[in-house]
Amino acid sequence: MQENRCGQCNRKLAEGSYIRLNIKCPRCNTLNHLSAPSTVQERQTSVEETQAHGRTAY
Ligand SMILES: [Zn+2]
Repeated sequence: MQENRCGQCNRKLAEGSYIRLNIKCPRCNTLNHLSAPSTVQERQTSVEETQAHGRTAY
């Protein structure tokens, strides 16, 4: 089982496996973007391109 912690305050946010997860830390309000380290099915490699579209939800 995989533990997922907040990048800011290291609070434990979730446990388990996922492909991609956006989770807001209840303690410090940091929005954490988590993605599984090895996803063979996922072919898109450039993460930055998704941010090119002006409007992001956060
Ligand atoms: Zn936090």
